[in-house]
Amino acid sequence: GTKSYQFMLRTKNPCGKVPNKLYLAMDELADEFGIGTLRLTTRQTFQLHGVMKKNLKTVMSTIIRSMGSTLGACGDLNRNVLAPAAPFTRKDYVFAQETADNIAALLSPQSGFYYDMWVDGEKFMSAEPPEVTKARNDNSHNTNFPDSPEPIYGTQFLPRKFKVAVTVPADNSVDILTNDIGVVVVSDADGEPQGFNLYVGGGMGRTHRIETTFPRLGEPLGYVPKKDILYAVKAIVVTQRENGRRDERRYSRMKYLISSWGIEKFRSVVEGYYGKKFEPFRELPEWEFKSYLGWHDQGNGALFCGLHVDNGRIGGKMKKTLREVIEKYNLDVRLTPNQNLILCDIRRAWRRPITTALAQAGLLHPRYVDPLNVTAMACPAMPLCPLAITEAERGIPDILKRVRSVFDKVGLKYSESVVIRITGCPNGCARPYMAELGLVGDGPNSYQIWLGGTPNQSSLARSFMNKVKIHDLEKVLEPLFYCWKRKRQQKESFGDFTNRVGFEKLQHIVETWNGI
Ligand code: SF4
Repeated sequence: GTKSYQFMLRTKNPCGKVPNKLYLAMDELADEFGIGTLRLTTRQTFQLHGVMKKNLKTVMSTIIRSMGSTLGACGDLNRNVLAPAAPFTRKDYVFAQETADNIAALLSPQSGFYYDMWVDGEKFMSAEPPEVTKARNDNSHNTNFPDSPEPIYGTQFLPRKFKVAVTVPADNSVDILTNDIGVVVVSDADGEPQGFNLYVGGGMGRTHRIETTFPRLGEPLGYVPKKDILYAVKAIVVTQRENGRRDERRYSRMKYLISSWGIEKFRSVVEGYYGKKFEPFRELPEWEFKSYLGWHDQGNGALFCGLHVDNGRIGGKMKKTLREVIEKYNLDVRLTPNQNLILCDIRRAWRRPITTALAQAGLLHPRYVDPLNVTAMACPAMPLCPLAITEAERGIPDILKRVRSVFDKVGLKYSESVVIRITGCPNGCARPYMAELGLVGDGPNSYQIWLGGTPNQSSLARSFMNKVKIHDLEKVLEPLFYCWKRKRQQKESFGDFTNRVGFEKLQHIVETWNGI
């Protein structure tokens, strides 16, 4: 089991950007001080498991000196800001990433405590754009603690962790609706970014058997012109700081504030701090899930290559090959919110040798990655997370194989897929409540089953059955997938199917199938 003197350390990488030097440093740290593998997270960061207390200082200062950060990776403040990981040079992508960087800087703790502590007083803060400093220090609408080194957070920080994602229209690689704030770049007809649509109040975590806790989708707050984005974000954070519940951690995420107030009241309180009215939400196209796997044009002559990482765990031959390629070609890396990895800025002439190297390690065979695997996610759970009730990362390979066998048995094709996400407890780190099939640990070897999410992560799943023992999974999945295969409308996804037919009817089908 996890020993209490071992630490789990998380980095902070807005947009999942990992400079070459940082990747190589993390790779070494994992061998020297961790458990020999690197774990990519669902928030585009690294987790290093098994770091001993006596090595923490060395590890953290190595990360900071390699242009990484752990600042604000944990605690009751803003967590890593998500943005599409693809290094496209299209204006809106670049602007989304820039905005994510600025929001991350705006909401970083200012005291320098961590840096002073770990790098002996030598500060390694990257310079932030002056507009970020200006927005943080602005107190024209009484948002700040003027005398505090933390003008936004004060001494009490936020009631709870806080999550922000930025993206461009249609690209839902970031699970935009699961964040406290979802920011979407809106461009004019020439592709020039003009402003942002804002969603607020998304969040996954809940507690079993307490119906007043629930996962929630972000909902539209309004539109802001681009020059105002940092002020709008700050106004939302301050509204949560002042009004979010601090008496019970269970209800302290901003989603509970918004659901108790309603969006109208929430909007008007935020507008008080913002000093302006929000404009009406702009119309957006449908969301799509983007995996970015394989080779793509960046738009500037260079290429990028997205690689699937099973469960976000990089070890063994994969780790060795990645290191060699990344080191040899001096590549920068991006981590995706789906726990995959992108190699960036690859010259055309390098495509062939890199393909060969990756293929030799079995890393570039998209056809050999089961489509179920491409969208599946699991949290670390046992033995790494103390909250875990069941297996997730260690259990998912076998579960995916079993789902594939059920597919074969009921006659679903290999190319068919459903989004499967598994977590070891209801906290929901791998966002199971957005899955078409979500498994959430609810007892020894048993899972609560959630259905009804969609392939583009735009609707919330609902709980379908409780306490399904892991060895009984087929008893539930076989009738469900059999019906989907037989009764689906053309190309209907499993999520849409379960929503259309309705849970009551499907529960009845499962019971009849098993002779209950
Ligand atoms: Fe741990 Fe629960 Fe998060 Fe999984 S979902 S990593 S078990 S807290």
